Amino acid sequence: MHRRQLLRATGGALLAASLGVGRAATATANGRVVVVGGGMAGNTLARYLKLWGRRRVDVTLVDRAPTYVSNIMSSLVLTGQRSLSSLTYSRSALAALGVNLVVDEVVAVDAAAPSVTLAGGGTLQADRVVLAPGIAFEPPPGYDDNRMPHAWQAGPQTTLLAQHLAALPASGTVVLTIPPTPYRCPPGPYERACLLADWLRANKPGARLLVLDANPDIIVEQDNFSAAFYGLHADVLEYRPGVSIDSVDAAGMTLHTNQGQVTADVVNLIPRQRAGRIVTDAGLATANGGRFAPVDVLSYASTAAPAVHVIGDSSATTQPKAGHIGNQEAKVCADALLRAFGGTAPDPAPVTNSACFSTITMTQASWLTAVFQYDAATRAMAAVPASSAASNGWSRGNFEDMDTWFRALMSDSFG
Ligand SMILES: Cc1cc2nc3c(=O)[nH]c(=O)nc-3n(C[C@H](O)[C@H](O)[C@H](O)COP(=O)(O)OP(=O)(O)OC[C@H]3O[C@@H](n4cnc5c(N)ncnc54)[C@H](O)[C@@H]3O)c2cc1C
Repeated sequence: MHRRQLLRATGGALLAASLGVGRAATATANGRVVVVGGGMAGNTLARYLKLWGRRRVDVTLVDRAPTYVSNIMSSLVLTGQRSLSSLTYSRSALAALGVNLVVDEVVAVDAAAPSVTLAGGGTLQADRVVLAPGIAFEPPPGYDDNRMPHAWQAGPQTTLLAQHLAALPASGTVVLTIPPTPYRCPPGPYERACLLADWLRANKPGARLLVLDANPDIIVEQDNFSAAFYGLHADVLEYRPGVSIDSVDAAGMTLHTNQGQVTADVVNLIPRQRAGRIVTDAGLATANGGRFAPVDVLSYASTAAPAVHVIGDSSATTQPKAGHIGNQEAKVCADALLRAFGGTAPDPAPVTNSACFSTITMTQASWLTAVFQYDAATRAMAAVPASSAASNGWSRGNFEDMDTWFRALMSDSFG
């Protein structure tokens, strides 16, 4: 697929999802929804519930932070090409649509009621609760995120890792670790490795980047990342697959792995991941070894608690944990909720899509796109092979398209 076609396909899918509005809006909706988490998935859900349901649905969104900082593009903060403020989004468009905004931490979920309890006191009751809290980390013993920042949740951690990199001594060593799947943004660590290799070459002559991957091989976009790791960046970057982190000595900047001990000047340790804590505490994370929440992908209702829905990275589906997919899951869920309030069944054949751009250098990117369609036999979203494609190599044009795609996605999610 040509990159222009990709952009058209991406925009088309966003538009097609919006066109579901007509069908959803004609239902007689009369329900109360509490959304926990106003990130890529939760913010999109609240926005589309109101765009499609208007006054017939009462929506309250709770997030611990008043604004959202995008993880997408945040690796460019490490190389000084982006600022965190350029990645910060307000929820004022939600307020304008009539969403009740609560800035607080949800500390408990009663899946049967359903209701949520706030750290600041009080309980919010609803007809349906939607959980979109993203991920929690499962760090190895000895981990200290001040010494070995993960920077896998954009914000202070990103700033800290950027400072560590800036202070890297001449001919120093950087280690980046990749957790076992499933984790947030499958290509993310590989694209960060490429970006850092390019930045080190230009800014820290003689420095080396060691990439320790807990997975047996590169898990996504193998052609492009292999060409980058073993060709383009081989003078700076060494890739070691099958390396898991058993424990760390944070003070000594040392990692104890299944293949021996590694010491470095800067460590970007991306820990193993699981659903946000409230999902686990509510007993809903029973898939992937008790890490993520199984859902019915026609509505994203938890398989354990039908009045509670789980969208975004916390859910266990066959789709990647990605912001673009969180946006798509939110629209399927919003449509299903409005139909349920109107007394009708969810769309029996939902389709989602995801586009992904990966930085291969500081100015060039590759891309990958996938479409998923509901498969009634497996009750899962199945990748549609004919609709999936990847770029053959990388280019400056793709890097520019990445910015267009990002702006479209964020504007669709945050208004
Ligand atoms: C470096 C990096 C690059 C990435 N690049 C891409 C990319 O190119 N394309 C792509 O599609 N995806 C990318 N991703 C992945 C994407 O960022 C995530 O998949 C997406 O953010 C998941 O959305 P979410 O809504 O599930 O979680 P989030 O976006 O993390 O939102 C969760 C929200 O819940 C709130 N919250 C959590 N718990 C509570 C609580 N108890 N009470 C109140 N509020 C709570 C948080 O404050 C947060 O606002 C990238 C990720 C990283 C780290």
